[in-house]
Amino acid sequence: MAALVFILFTILLIAGAVIAILSFKIRKNHQHRREMTIDLYKIRSDFSVKQGICDLYQSVFGSYRKTIRKSPVLLAAEEFKKKFNLGNFVVFCSDRNMFLPVMGVGFKLRSIKPVKVDLIRQVISGNNANSLRDGSYWGLPIDVEKFKQFFTIANMPNTAKKLFIFYYNFNYSQILFVGEDSQSDLAKYCIDVDFNRAVWPLLYNICRNNSNIKKQNEKTKAMQVKLDETNTKLITLSRKLKHKIIDLHSFYEISNNMFTVFDKKRLIEIFVNSVRENLAPQQVMVLLRDSDNTNLFKPAMNNGLNQNINLTLELSRNSDIYKLLATNNKVLLLPIVGSGLPKPDNFIESALSSGFSAMEKLTITEDIYGIVLIGHNKEGKPYGETDLELFSTLTNMASLALGNIHQYKLIEKMSYTDSMTKLYNYRYFYKRLNEEIFRGKRFNRMLALVIFDIDNFKTFNDNYGHQAGDEILKNITKLVTSSVRAIDVVSRYGGEEFCVIMPDTGFANSLIFIERLRKKIENHRFKNKFVKDECNITVSIGGAICPVDAQTADRLIYCSDMALLKAKADGRNRSMMFNNSLLEDKKLNSSIQQQLKDMRIHEDL
Ligand code: GH3
Ligand code: MG
Ligand code: MG
Repeated sequence: MAALVFILFTILLIAGAVIAILSFKIRKNHQHRREMTIDLYKIRSDFSVKQGICDLYQSVFGSYRKTIRKSPVLLAAEEFKKKFNLGNFVVFCSDRNMFLPVMGVGFKLRSIKPVKVDLIRQVISGNNANSLRDGSYWGLPIDVEKFKQFFTIANMPNTAKKLFIFYYNFNYSQILFVGEDSQSDLAKYCIDVDFNRAVWPLLYNICRNNSNIKKQNEKTKAMQVKLDETNTKLITLSRKLKHKIIDLHSFYEISNNMFTVFDKKRLIEIFVNSVRENLAPQQVMVLLRDSDNTNLFKPAMNNGLNQNINLTLELSRNSDIYKLLATNNKVLLLPIVGSGLPKPDNFIESALSSGFSAMEKLTITEDIYGIVLIGHNKEGKPYGETDLELFSTLTNMASLALGNIHQYKLIEKMSYTDSMTKLYNYRYFYKRLNEEIFRGKRFNRMLALVIFDIDNFKTFNDNYGHQAGDEILKNITKLVTSSVRAIDVVSRYGGEEFCVIMPDTGFANSLIFIERLRKKIENHRFKNKFVKDECNITVSIGGAICPVDAQTADRLIYCSDMALLKAKADGRNRSMMFNNSLLEDKKLNSSIQQQLKDMRIHEDL
């Protein structure tokens, strides 16, 4: 009996111990579960903090990768593995109808392929996949055969000795765990509904948030790239804009300089300088039409030329290069022109060997006025499109300015020219006479003024008509211009009166000249379409000397006029130099004599 009681007592003791151990274990398990949940919550809260920091860093510095070494998902995965003594595993989260690998240990997630959610659901519940409602879960410890297709599709090696596959469905989201559950720890917990409700949504959120961050990060990166690109474009644009502003400013200055000069040579100098300042070529050369042979363009102006330069460089108007230049509207690049020719061209060859690289034309109303050659860039850089455009713009500006000068000179010439005889008119004569008197005084040189008038021209007009008279005026023009020196200035003073300013001429020489001119006209047989027979014309000529007879233009004109009047008074067809006795000559017009006398008093004062 005692033995029986002892046995019973021992059994009770053992049972009590077992119950105590079991209850301890269960409590411990509960505690474990609570701890783990708290830890995971900790991860989540850590994650939230980190995410906050990430966001902050991302917005401030544009990259969170530098600041956080381990991603929150990796931290969670490691924690998960440790808590449940797991081997390698992968967690998939649903994204629409696909399961995407989002968390894992021991696998390269990037090499694992997404798998259709339906495939898993069918494997799990067969044809009754729709029966998987919210909160459904499903765990599979061993049946790998069923999952073969999954591993193939996911491109995932299955080396697990104790494979555990668990599917959980909540709030229209689904999560799949595939991995080695060495101690079956996870499998044990997954039976618990509370555990599942606490853990899987948490993991899901961590993973989804992370992938959102990743996506966000990628978007940010892409935006950063775009921002960088835009920034670079902006920098280039602002640089271009700055250049444009500088260009505009210097263009304004250049045009101001170019369009305010009225001398072609000075304009070419300004043009060459602006080419040098803006394009920095080693050398610039301008070829202009040769004065002896207008068919040839020869070097007229150069800047920065090296000593080996070929100054014999010349271009004929009949050459192919000239024709190319005339028809082309762009800058010609010499190496390209050279290589495009069927046979070597002398001009291009010598321009290239003299270090020139581009060529443009200067035009005046479509006509080539000059040819500009520029050497290589000083910095050794090839000319870009902008440089060539600038070169073209500068030559165009210079061409316009040349056109302006040309027009101005034409108008000026017209305003100084007598339209019938093409001689200078009175306006020019008077201006030039003053200049020549000034120059003569400055260099202590004498100057002669000669005035002549056709004799009885009114009668000639009456006899032959005014057109015949006009022809005579033109004929006489030829006779006079062919009788004077290059420095003499022949003008039409008025009606049928002409005058010649003869710089550097004294009494003796001017007397010889007026007599020779008179004889030349007297001996000339005038013939034109308005006169039937050849006829004779005579002129009366008067001359005076500055500063001997007069010191001013007005008085000099009076003196010459008086000599001319004397020639007329003495019977016409005469030449006469002024002398003071004419002032007292009774034959002459007393009012002119009086004026001359008054002028002398004025001059003497
Ligand atoms: P002289 O000089 O010998 O005293 O006599 P003249 O008949 O030549 O007299 P004057 O010099 O005063 O004559 C001016 C004449 O010249 C009047 C006009 O018929 C003529 N004349 C002036 N200008 C022109 C012109 O442009 N064409 C033509 N055909 N005749 C002109
Ligand atoms: Mg007259
Ligand atoms: Mg006359």
